[in-house]
Formats: sequence, structure tokens, C-alpha cells
Amino acid sequence: MLDQTHAPGLRSFVASANGHPDFPIQNLPLGIFSTVGTSLRGGVAIGDSVLDLPALADADLLTGAAADAAAATASGSLNALFALGAGPRQALRAALSALLAEGSAKQAQVEKFLYPTSDVTLHLPARIGDYTDFYAGIQHAENVGRQFRPDNPLLPNYKYVPIGYHGRASSVVLTGTALHRPKGQRKPASETVPSYGPCRNLDYELELGIWIGQGNALGEEIAIADAASHIAGYCLLNDWSARDIQGWEYQPLGPFLAKSFGTTISPWVITPEALAPFRIAQAPRPNGDPAPLPYLWDEADQAGGAIDLRLDVLLMTPGLKEKGLPPHLLGRSNTKHLYWTPAQFVAHHSGNGCNLNPGDLFGSGTISGPSESAYGSLLEITNGGRKPVTLASGEERRFLEDGDEIFLVARAEKDGVAGIGFGECRGTILPAR
Ligand code: MN
Repeated sequence: MLDQTHAPGLRSFVASANGHPDFPIQNLPLGIFSTVGTSLRGGVAIGDSVLDLPALADADLLTGAAADAAAATASGSLNALFALGAGPRQALRAALSALLAEGSAKQAQVEKFLYPTSDVTLHLPARIGDYTDFYAGIQHAENVGRQFRPDNPLLPNYKYVPIGYHGRASSVVLTGTALHRPKGQRKPASETVPSYGPCRNLDYELELGIWIGQGNALGEEIAIADAASHIAGYCLLNDWSARDIQGWEYQPLGPFLAKSFGTTISPWVITPEALAPFRIAQAPRPNGDPAPLPYLWDEADQAGGAIDLRLDVLLMTPGLKEKGLPPHLLGRSNTKHLYWTPAQFVAHHSGNGCNLNPGDLFGSGTISGPSESAYGSLLEITNGGRKPVTLASGEERRFLEDGDEIFLVARAEKDGVAGIGFGECRGTILPAR
């Protein structure tokens, strides 16, 4: 799994990459960018720069499968590259690593295709045909379930079924896109009939996003042993949630308008190769929990299918900004707390023959850890709004207010390995229209 592209001592001639918190040469995440007056195309983040992928292929700086992978991004989305599968993506990584390394014989030619990230516009990395949100954060499921069923927080299916729902692809937006507070039907217990108006209990959800690579034909399932090879990469995902609208609308069919007003993702696709050093065993299930059914069980997936990735949620409010105070750390969690692996999502989703397509997006579900400081939503942190958070500015928050900004941050670290990050995933809430 690990090769010379992961070597901790590897450095790039792009000086800003060396020691970069997110994008050292060991990361090489893929995205879609444009510069003023040019069309959208694929790029790779290296330090504070973006390298133009189709231009490298056009200039014959790449050959074979790596050139095919780079050229596939010329259409302005990564869907065609995702469809090529793992081999060409891995060839591209190896070639980019060599081209960008310190001492690269091609440095002068490569430099012509580097742009400062501050000068480019980033776009959604893929045309998202379908977006599915899972519910695999078991601490979150227990914390939320406890608010409604104190003695029996998890429903009987939870430990057998990777629970999910079909989300809305059209309203997935890139980091930095401000969203208006949604309006909808609200019916607090104190009122006898619902009213339509701005959400009063607006929340975020800290999630891992999963990009689907090669898909499957309708009617064909993806075996759990092959499932990981259908994942093209990962991102951060904020599943904004209108809790009051959700509480009224969700029975009996589940989330709908409380979720579909917006989902924010980070722009860079962090490849499975970049995350290889941070793979860990799936945590053993507690005594008494059922084993996953055979179609969800694979020894290799259990041995290395989970990811050790630290996740932070930060809140910036108008009051903090006004006083020059830093953002408030709402929670610090880790993807290792997920009850199901990404490969299990793929095997389950396709287990009925449902066809997945390149560029489909999954959300993991809110990733809360076991302690209160690791909760991934305000619903949990404030116990449904009953216990407000007090900020250094003197402000209080039960749920999000207009002007609040949520930042998600991911960081993978391990001794003897170059750490990597995901780049930013942030969004501001504007007043309801
Ligand atoms: Mn969610």
C-alpha cells in the first residue's frame, strides 16, 4: 500500500508544500479549478499552488495511464477520471510525485503550469448524480436517540443495517458558499398547528464525504471485498440540518426539506492512496453486538478499512469577530468512531442491485466521539437546545444564528509519516430570504 510517494522525507521544489499542514507532496489531492477567462479543468493541490492536469498531459509531461487520467479532467469535472478506477489514479499520483519532487528534471516545464491557489477559483470536483447520507456515527445515533427514547436510544436495526437516506445532490455546494437560513414547517410542542417560516433550530453535522469511483451496473452488487476499490476519495461534508423542520416532517419517511437546503463540502478529493498511511483496523464491536452479516464482512476491510483522521468543528460568530477573538472549538472527533467502514457503505448501498455512478457522493453520518468534547452537532452539544454554549464574546448559542460561520477541519497524523489535511470546509448562514 505504501510506496515512495509516501516517504516522509520527500520534499517538493514548490517551497510552500514542504511542511504545509494540508498539501505536502505526500497528499496530492485532486480538484477542479479555473483561472480568469479559462475553462474548468482538473488540478492537484501542492502547497499553496494548483497544478494544471490537462496542461501536463498536453505538454507530454505525463505518459500512459497517468496521461489518460490527467486528460480525463479536461472536461471540467473529475467524473471521467473517477470512472477510470484505481489504476490510472495511482499512476497519476506516482507521476505527479516525481514531477513535483525536489530535484525533478522537469521542474522548469512543470512550473509553467502552476498557479497560486489565491488566483484560482475552485469548483465542485464532480457532477454529483446522487448523494446518499448514512448514519454511521453510533455515538451520534445514541445521543440523538436518547433525547427521544431515553431507555432505548438505538432502534433494533441499527447494528445490522448501515442506515441511510437518499439526500439531495442539487444543493451540495462548495466551501465558502453562504446559505440562507431555510424556511419550512415548524411545529414546536407548545403549538397545536404548524406554521411556515424561518428555521429556529439550525444546526450543522460533522461528516466524512466519500466519492464513488467506478460504479456498478443496475442489478449487479459490489462485493464487500471489492468495495474499497470503488471509492475514488474523501472530503469533508457539513450536512446542515434544520432541527425544528426535521422533527415535524421526518415521520414516517425520514429526512426531507430539513436537509435539502444545502450541504457543504471541501473542494479537494483526498485519494485513498494519500490516506493509506492512516488506515487502521475497524474497532472491534462491543461484547453483545451482532457481527455484520456476511455480505458486509471482509477480513481485510476489518483489518484496515477504518481511517484515523482527526476532525474539528469551529464556530465564528459576529460577536467573536467584532472583538477580534478566535473561532470557538465546538468539537474534536475522529473518523475512527464510525460503526461501519466506507467499504461497508458501498457493499450495502449496492447490495440490492442499486447502481452507483462515478461522482456519486456519500456522507458518513455525523461523527461524534464518546466524550462531550467530541460531539459533532449542536443538537448533541446543547442537548436539544436546553444547555447553551457560552462563547468568549459573551454570546450564547443553542443553535446557529444568522452570520455564524462553521468551519470543519481534518488532519491525519502518525509518527514517522508526513501529516496531511483536507483543506477548508466552511459556510456562513445568512438571514432567511
Ligand atoms: Mn447527516
